Amino acid sequence: MDVVCEVCGAARASVRCPLCGRLVCEKHFDREAGVCVVCRDLMCRVCGRRLSVDVCPLCGRLICRECSVELQPGIRVCRECFSRLDEIVAEHPRLNYLLRYLKRRNQHVLSRR
Ligand SMILES: [Zn+2]
Ligand SMILES: [Zn+2]
Ligand SMILES: [Zn+2]
Ligand SMILES: [Zn+2]
Repeated sequence: MDVVCEVCGAARASVRCPLCGRLVCEKHFDREAGVCVVCRDLMCRVCGRRLSVDVCPLCGRLICRECSVELQPGIRVCRECFSRLDEIVAEHPRLNYLLRYLKRRNQHVLSRR
């Protein structure tokens, strides 16, 4: 039985992507990442192991839930940017609104201490 790769539609599929279940050819399977190229392109750019759920608005990287911090529903930044948010906002005043979310979050955190 010949199954055609679901990415190129030409070569014979030999691997099934464990993430999306696509059958793909050798060329469209990333051995290193262990997933097909479609999933690889959607991978979190920080850990490279999980599918991304969002894009960090500060650095533009694809981020997964674990590698990011949710400042506000729908606003998610990567942990790296989160740790230097003050610095980034100082450089880009238009991002000031992010600090407001952060402050609200911190009240949360501080009250737990
Ligand atoms: Zn292919
Ligand atoms: Zn896949
Ligand atoms: Zn990640
Ligand atoms: Zn970032």
